[in-house]
Amino acid sequence: MDLNKLIAELEEKNPAQPLYIQAAKEVLETIVDFVNENPKYDKYSIVERILEPERIIQFKVTWVDDNGKIHVNRAFRVQHNMAIGPYKGGCRFHKSVNQDSMKFLAFEQTFKNSLTTLPMGGGKGGSDFDPTGKSEGEMMRFCQAFMTELQKYLGPETDVPAGDIGVSGREVAWMFGQYKRIRGEHVGVLTGKTLNLGGSLIRPEATGFGAIYFLQGMLAAKGDTIAGKKVVLSGFGNVTWGAALKCEELGAKVIAISGPDGYILDEDGITGDKVVYLTELLGTRNNVVAPYATKYPKAKFIAGKKSWEVPCDVAIPCAIQNELNKEDAEKLIANGCQYVVEASNMGCTADAIHVLQTNKVSFAPGKAANAGGVATSGLEMTQNSMKLAWTREEVDEKLKAIMSNIHANCVKYGTEKDGYINYVKGANIAGFIKVADAMIEQGVI
Ligand code: GLU
Repeated sequence: MDLNKLIAELEEKNPAQPLYIQAAKEVLETIVDFVNENPKYDKYSIVERILEPERIIQFKVTWVDDNGKIHVNRAFRVQHNMAIGPYKGGCRFHKSVNQDSMKFLAFEQTFKNSLTTLPMGGGKGGSDFDPTGKSEGEMMRFCQAFMTELQKYLGPETDVPAGDIGVSGREVAWMFGQYKRIRGEHVGVLTGKTLNLGGSLIRPEATGFGAIYFLQGMLAAKGDTIAGKKVVLSGFGNVTWGAALKCEELGAKVIAISGPDGYILDEDGITGDKVVYLTELLGTRNNVVAPYATKYPKAKFIAGKKSWEVPCDVAIPCAIQNELNKEDAEKLIANGCQYVVEASNMGCTADAIHVLQTNKVSFAPGKAANAGGVATSGLEMTQNSMKLAWTREEVDEKLKAIMSNIHANCVKYGTEKDGYINYVKGANIAGFIKVADAMIEQGVI
């Protein structure tokens, strides 16, 4: 493959889509040598084919607020690649949602889902609807209106959405109800469902748990352990919550979390009831973390700043794309941070990753480190198909095994001559192989 030509075409074909270009370019740059060593991929034009989403659906969502005013939002489902299973990926409700962010997320999802080894293709959906300050009734009406259109393109063997930013079990349940009302089928067409609707135990915590299991692999690869490590997180949603719970269980100390308004520094550690309080804060849908410092006066609230300025051993972005930039990476390195684990999708900018890798910081990309969420969604699909429910222990054991296998694959394909593990390269190559080979086996489709 001709890297420069492909990048030039990518840029030309996707004008004004910087996120998609960023995600795709990173993959191209890291798989180029592997692809050139294996001529079958060029023979079947696999790279060119993987760069093009199979389908992009854009639709209008009209809903009525509590005052009777009608609103219109834009919504998407990007069905990126179905080579290894039904399209699978969450739905994001956030004001930043547009075709670019949906495309990059669906693209990432294809590689991530492949890494899990479960039969799931890649997709992503969402809307530029902003849940901040919305009442329960408004949220429900929006979810129903969203699903009224989206259901046309879904099915348990076709496309299986889940949650993402702004969409938790409550919203998934409302969407499930609307799908059932329209289609008359009680089927596993969504994951991240509440337990009563066929949801899986551990699913809400899974992304955070999985990221910490992956971190354990990174630490072990350097002969280190998690106990006693100082951890800084961003965000205060499901992912942050799961990561904080697992850190506490394994003896690491989470000292900072953040929201759009600034960050909380709690040197005593964010543990126990404080972690529960994070979920209450999230439940208010006001999108602020400042009240934490009022409730726990020993903690400090630093307005308008990011948690990456806090000295730590491990930094875990858990919020949104490009939330950690080059300056943040330089600050983390100067403060002695040795591990950066993306629990968010593409949480670091390309130049932040470059700085981290150049300084030999262990860096895990989201498609590997946060795959525990969708992996557990895959386990939810399996349970729904079998019409059985596994125990917490059974799900957790499978999740651990999947994360450890992803880590091993990153090591296999990403270890460089000097022994440094390039997890970005490892994840991209390992994720690519299964999808690419499945595409070849299916012929020109
Ligand atoms: N939104 C999550 C992700 O980015 C989970 C997707 C899913 O469970 O389908 O991977």
